[in-house]
Amino acid sequence: MQTALADFIRDTPEGREADAILRKCVHCGFCTATCPTYLLLGDENDGPRGRIYLMKQALEGQEITDKTRLHLDRCLTCRACETTCPSGVQYGRLLDIGRKLVEEKTARPAWERVKRRALAAVLPRRFLFAALLALGRLARPFLPERLAEKVPASTPAAGAWPALRHARKMLALAGCVQPALSPGINAAAARVLDRIGISLLEAKGAGCCGALRFHIGYQKEGLADMRALIDRWWPMIERCGVEGIVMTASGCGAVVKEYAHLLSHDLAYAAKAEKISAMTRDVCEVIDAEFGRIEPILAKGERVRLAFHPPCTLQHGQNIKGVTESVLARAGFELTSVPDSHLCCGSAGTYSILQPELAERLKKNKLTALASGEPRLIATANVGCQMHLAAGAALPVRHWIVALEERLS
Ligand code: SF4
Ligand code: SF4
Repeated sequence: MQTALADFIRDTPEGREADAILRKCVHCGFCTATCPTYLLLGDENDGPRGRIYLMKQALEGQEITDKTRLHLDRCLTCRACETTCPSGVQYGRLLDIGRKLVEEKTARPAWERVKRRALAAVLPRRFLFAALLALGRLARPFLPERLAEKVPASTPAAGAWPALRHARKMLALAGCVQPALSPGINAAAARVLDRIGISLLEAKGAGCCGALRFHIGYQKEGLADMRALIDRWWPMIERCGVEGIVMTASGCGAVVKEYAHLLSHDLAYAAKAEKISAMTRDVCEVIDAEFGRIEPILAKGERVRLAFHPPCTLQHGQNIKGVTESVLARAGFELTSVPDSHLCCGSAGTYSILQPELAERLKKNKLTALASGEPRLIATANVGCQMHLAAGAALPVRHWIVALEERLS
């Protein structure tokens, strides 16, 4: 596609990157077929090709309207279009640049600004979020049904964290909302890795990976969260001999793997960010590589029917496909077939809060697809998807590492 970027952005790093991405797009439209919002709404501007065109117009200096913002807001950032595109268009990167521009050049209505600011203030702060969750539980009986189902009635206990006893060590991210919503995920990962011969550590005071604020229009604050996390991790990487960073939330993993790119222009952090991205693995990659160590201790017996939902941040963001499914099948689960498993469930970070109608429709479709093979359990790899699906599912929804641990004798 030919481009003529406007003077204000042409010679900036973002302008050059956006220009290179736009030039790769040949406007073929293959990506529209796998775009969840295009499939729901049938509007070209609610598909990747239309959004790319809207962003091109904005970058070329044409007027940016509320309509441009609406179509970009409706994008899930699921990046299904990116893994479909035969020309290698990095839609996700372009969207980061386009959204920043739209945020700068348009004014949101006051209520929307308040809502976004509140989300950016609360969600990345673990203790504030935990306190509000506790309050939400108390108020649950009085909340409207749609709001009440978003507040889980209880949090299952995490169980014991194994003692630090192995020479091999890896670092895990506790994250921002996961410890309050599902503290058992990292604890289960620590116990499974302990059986493999790897001790899992969490850095004290390590907070949000930055994805939350970065993706809802506060890119500067998101980058500050990333630097703060690097500052917490770096001493442990230098002094504790950790061989890798393990991610149990694929949403965080996708972003941490992009630190190298996102902080590449920051002289103080670029080298550290590059090392951290290179060290980062989703927990399925680690278990897959070490599977032989847990194989002898797997319980034999009935194969439980399980439907796996691969989060977009795993299959499109990190391009990891089939690995978790293969681990679960080798661990003795019978995986049911799930139609349209490439489509987003509607969780998408804060999307389910900011675009509730679309998110509900996507969830309904996803739950129907997941239930179609008559599983006894739904498993996924990101706490956001887990909570979103659980609010409305007739079956239990868990993180797959928790389900795997239950098969270890
Ligand atoms: S992003 Fe890729 S698939 Fe979509 S229109 Fe452009 S070249 Fe075609
Ligand atoms: S990121 Fe997802 S919702 Fe957004 S344009 Fe691409 S496929 Fe569609």
